Amino acid sequence: MAIAELQELEREAVMPTYARLPVEFVRGEGTRLWDSDGNEYLDLLSGISVTQIGHSHPRWVAAVLEQAGRLAHVSNLFYSEPGMQLARRLAERSLGGKVFLCNSGAEASECAIKLARRQRPGGGFVVVEGGFHGRTMGALSATPQESKQAPFAPLVPGFRAVPRDDPEARGAAVDERTAAVILEPVQGESGVHALPAEVLEAARAACDERGALLVFDEVQCGMGRTGTLWAWQGAGVRPDAMTLAKGLGGG
Ligand SMILES: *Cc1c(COP(=O)(O)O)cnc(C)c1O
Repeated sequence: MAIAELQELEREAVMPTYARLPVEFVRGEGTRLWDSDGNEYLDLLSGISVTQIGHSHPRWVAAVLEQAGRLAHVSNLFYSEPGMQLARRLAERSLGGKVFLCNSGAEASECAIKLARRQRPGGGFVVVEGGFHGRTMGALSATPQESKQAPFAPLVPGFRAVPRDDPEARGAAVDERTAAVILEPVQGESGVHALPAEVLEAARAACDERGALLVFDEVQCGMGRTGTLWAWQGAGVRPDAMTLAKGLGGG
C-alpha cells in the first residue's frame, strides 16, 4: 500500500490520537530499519525505548515463535511456567520481593498506586513536574502535564506535583499522609532529564522519615537503557517498588 492509501485507511478506521510521519516501516534488523521504498535507517528511537535488544533478534524471534506454537493463554486461574520464571528472575535482579505481571506501563503505574494505597489507606501521592506515567486515569493523574490532563478532567484526586530539581520542595511535600513518591529516575517523555542524585536521595530520605513508599518508574529508563540494568543502580538510590514495561518484552 502506498503511504497515501495508508493515510486514507487511517482517516477511515483509526482514531486520530497520534500524528504519524509519512513513513511506513516494513522490516527491522538489529539497529536498522527499512521503509516501504527500500530506504535504510539507523533506529535511534527504538519504538520509544521498546526494542531494547534491537529488531528481530534471532533468539527473541525463536522464543516468541516457540511459545506461540506451544500455548497462547490460559488465564490466571492456572499455572504456566514462563510467567513464574520471569517473575523470579526479575525479583532476583531487582528488589527481591514479588512481581505483579500485567500488560502495559500504564497498568504497572496503576498497580504501584494501588500498592501504596493498600499500605497507607487514603494516602496521597507526590509526583514530579515533567513526569510521565501512562494514559489511564490513575496514571494520567500522576502525570502533571497540562496538555495531557486537561481534556480528561476531573482526574483522580490526591496527586501533588513538585518541581523537578528541587529536593527541598519534594521533602516538604511528603508528610504522614503520603502513600508514595512516584518518579522516573530519568524522565523520558518530557525530554531526557536525569534527576540529580541528590534529588533522588532527598526523596528516599523523605519517604523513610514519613513512612511513604518510594516508587521508581523504570518503564523507559530501565532494562539497561542507562548502562546499568536499572537506572537507580547508577544513581545508588534504591526504591521500594519499581515499574517496568516497554523494553521488558523487547517489542
Ligand atoms: C511509556 C511509558 C509509560 C506507559 O507505558 P505504556 O506501556 O505505554 O502504558 C509509563 N511510564 C513511562 C516513563 C513511559 O515512558
